[in-house]
Amino acid sequence: MKIFFVLWWKYYILSFAVILIVETTISLFLPSTLPFTLLEILFAFLAWYFLSPVLLTIAFRGTKSNDENLLRYVSYASALLNFRKGVHVYEVNEKFLNAMAFGNIIYRAIAVTTPLKETLNERELVAVLSHEIAHLKNMDTEIQWIYILLINLVYVYLSYETSLIYSGIVLLFGVLLMFPLHRYLEKRADITASYTTNWIAKYLGDALVKIGYLSTQLPTYIIKEIPEFQIFYIKQSLIYSNRNGDNSFFKTHPPLNERLKYLNEIDTKLNFTQYT
Ligand SMILES: [Zn+2]
Repeated sequence: MKIFFVLWWKYYILSFAVILIVETTISLFLPSTLPFTLLEILFAFLAWYFLSPVLLTIAFRGTKSNDENLLRYVSYASALLNFRKGVHVYEVNEKFLNAMAFGNIIYRAIAVTTPLKETLNERELVAVLSHEIAHLKNMDTEIQWIYILLINLVYVYLSYETSLIYSGIVLLFGVLLMFPLHRYLEKRADITASYTTNWIAKYLGDALVKIGYLSTQLPTYIIKEIPEFQIFYIKQSLIYSNRNGDNSFFKTHPPLNERLKYLNEIDTKLNFTQYT
């Protein structure tokens, strides 16, 4: 998990560099009045938005996947979500289990780490890919981009019009609120994916048990061999444990037990309601 964190930092440093370079370059040609400064910010953020897939593949050292099976699972997940836009598929050769969606309106992509596709079974992998495609379908990158852009525009506006302290406080709150926004988008992607068909919620839960819990305890070649009924018991114990260790404000994802709990509820709702 630590390595994953470092890779994100690499991406944020690259992003910050792009924004700073574009902003500074434009500012050389424009007067430093409020309207022009706001325009500079807008252009710098547009540059970042369009360059973000390149920055992300550099930071994560992602390579285009030519794994036929993986590409087929991505097509299958896209079909489940009725997502008709082309998705580029990348592989990240790191030791942790993870997947992510990234890109912009002209280049949409998903990246999967090599151990993830090797550890999850077919259905778990499709469920995780559906969660990632749900991010693309829900336009989560764009929502977060607009949010960050707005915080910056408000910050610049306030620093021109009011005091630096006041604008700084607003900026700080804006940045802090990015965490609950991110968690909300994660939950929404889980829900969007789960309602596509009746088995996604169950297998997304199983995959999360492996990604979020087992991979911190066991090597991948052991996780791979754990039978489904055993995953079921581990999942139940996680749901009913009040392990709130990861229940922090600064988390980008909802706590594992909370995610498993609502996925379990959706699974029950979609599969067992006829018997109750
Ligand atoms: Zn996600």
